[in-house]
Amino acid sequence: MPGAPAGVVIIGGGVAGALLALALRDQGAAVRLLDAAPADGSSSATAISYGALPGWPLAPTPLARLAATASQRWRELERCHGPLGWQRRSLRLQGGNLALAGAARLGLLPFAQVDTALFGARMPLVLAAAGVAVQSLRVLALEALDGGWQLQLSDGSCCIAAQVVLAAGAHGRALWPGLLERLRRSWASVLHLAQWPEVLGPAAAWLPQGFARVGLECHAAALQQPAWVVDPGLVPWGAGALVGQHTWMAPGGMSTAAPSESLCEAQLRQALAARPQWPMEGAVVRQAAVAFCSSGAPLVGPVAEAPGLWVFSGFSAAFSQVPVLAPWLAMRIAAPAGPAAAAQRQLQQLGVWPAGG
Ligand SMILES: Cc1cc2nc3c(=O)[nH]c(=O)nc-3n(C[C@H](O)[C@H](O)[C@H](O)COP(=O)(O)OP(=O)(O)OC[C@H]3O[C@@H](n4cnc5c(N)ncnc54)[C@H](O)[C@@H]3O)c2cc1C
Repeated sequence: MPGAPAGVVIIGGGVAGALLALALRDQGAAVRLLDAAPADGSSSATAISYGALPGWPLAPTPLARLAATASQRWRELERCHGPLGWQRRSLRLQGGNLALAGAARLGLLPFAQVDTALFGARMPLVLAAAGVAVQSLRVLALEALDGGWQLQLSDGSCCIAAQVVLAAGAHGRALWPGLLERLRRSWASVLHLAQWPEVLGPAAAWLPQGFARVGLECHAAALQQPAWVVDPGLVPWGAGALVGQHTWMAPGGMSTAAPSESLCEAQLRQALAARPQWPMEGAVVRQAAVAFCSSGAPLVGPVAEAPGLWVFSGFSAAFSQVPVLAPWLAMRIAAPAGPAAAAQRQLQQLGVWPAGG
């Protein structure tokens, strides 16, 4: 039997669902968050993310300029809710422009990281303290009712809500196939080292100046056969580190099946062999499906022809974009008409409001 109607139900408890839940609580909304780990044993994208936060715009767009201020928002969140894993970090930029690499080494580029091991450990406590009702349940199906939504859950129960937000990352399309085509998915594989390699000195982030992953995402629609790239990065993760980033994509960036984990690991290790200073002995591979939008602008707003259904997904730099966009979407969903209309205008000006939504 359906339970009592909830105000807003969020499907997905990665960085998008979790920060939106906190922002909706700030608006006074009753929030229920449903999150279940992927059935195939893979991770959520958030769980193995580098969590890098460049403090400068990565593109000449209003969204990129806003995202460059994300560290301020993370620090506000930490003042309200306690530690979430935000750390100022030394940055070691790899390859490309020597002047930029030098500026990073001298600490002239503002850079921080959300340690996603810490973020994942703290978030359940933070959500509970903020009054978000979190349940480890998978949403199996969504059905439109007159003036609301009914969700079928993995424990056999149903839940009814006036407003539902799809923050299910790369799994959102499985629940609502009508999401805009620009929302696609790739598969990421990383190596996890349990201990920080002391040979590298104090914790720091080694990142390439440009990610090959981003180039692959731009060409997803035209891809005729599966493709993969490796980006050489190394960042602190809890007591250990995440090393390398292998990205695999099917034609069109639409596949749901994971690529062979052992093949991705072999390709990743082979590409990283060029960096013998990065120890990889004992590292284990972890894999996740990652949502992205081929245009670079995420989907933040209503789903077309589905009143009360919202989408918050497809970020190209989620840890920079989600904290600055979540308050606007929360306001659009839960604030009175005047502020809600202003929030919608802001999201439209940022170019993230889904066309036709
Ligand atoms: C190796 C790697 C490095 C990265 N580095 C960076 C970086 O440095 N900076 C940056 O900003 N971004 C980075 N990213 C990208 C970033 O991590 C992702 O864009 C972001 O984590 C996506 O968050 P999300 O909440 O949208 O999705 P997810 O983290 O995938 O969360 C979705 C959640 O919804 C759950 N779910 C799905 N379907 C259902 C269902 N039907 N019912 C219930 N629950 C469901 C999933 O299990 C999951 O827990 C990186 C990603 C990877 C993989």
